[in-house]
Amino acid sequence: MIKKMIAANWKMNLLKSDAKLLANSLIENFGSDYSAVDVVLAPPFTLLDAVGNLIKGSNIKLCAQNMYPEESGAFTGEISPLMLKDLNCTWVIIGHSERRQIIGETDELVSKKVKLALKCDLKIILCVGETLEQREKGVQNQIIENQVEIALKDVNNDMLKNIVIAYEPVWAIGTGKNATPNEIVEVHTMIKELLSMKFRENDDNIRVLYGGSVKPENIDEIISSNNVDGALVGGASLKADSFSKIVKAAGE
Ligand code: PEP
Repeated sequence: MIKKMIAANWKMNLLKSDAKLLANSLIENFGSDYSAVDVVLAPPFTLLDAVGNLIKGSNIKLCAQNMYPEESGAFTGEISPLMLKDLNCTWVIIGHSERRQIIGETDELVSKKVKLALKCDLKIILCVGETLEQREKGVQNQIIENQVEIALKDVNNDMLKNIVIAYEPVWAIGTGKNATPNEIVEVHTMIKELLSMKFRENDDNIRVLYGGSVKPENIDEIISSNNVDGALVGGASLKADSFSKIVKAAGE
């Protein structure tokens, strides 16, 4: 069985003092003896150093929310994967729907980021998911298949172990609505079948997380669904209490 993973996406939230308090509470709960679940924190860039220093040597891993697909150069305001490695990031989120929808990131850009992140030895949480309009048209599987195919076009079998897919229906992110277990299982199963065919990989080695309004009240139902290997959590990851409940539920 695959070990479950719970990742916290703090998005553009928290200042240093609150972030340190939150990280310290999570270290108390999951930092040393806890190993039932892989716990990953994705603070904004400004907090990577402070949070990274606190969790150093613990079981909790550091993740960035984004990166630019160049190692260095004249890209004002951007952050390179080498800079993330320099801050001890293990993971990077690529293709989050807020970046696709608000910033206009294309599948091609996502694919370039995936390629360079792997070259720079970062593990990837690759986000995919359909909009409400696409779900209403019933084309979610085609959309997700396309996102996965393009994002992973330069990935080989060896690299797949460093990639986790997060299925995040756009209509469920930060809206309080979450997909039903049946909807989640259908897409997760489709993603696993696609990857196992493409990479001739055993399903058990492919991790697919769910993201979209995950909270303590719905984690049990989501995490016990077939082919759900963890969750990417936004809003409910900003409080130690709610995030800890989610992690604990995933570890039971
Ligand atoms: C996310 O940011 O990836 C997310 C799923 O957010 P929320 O849990 O707030 O819906």
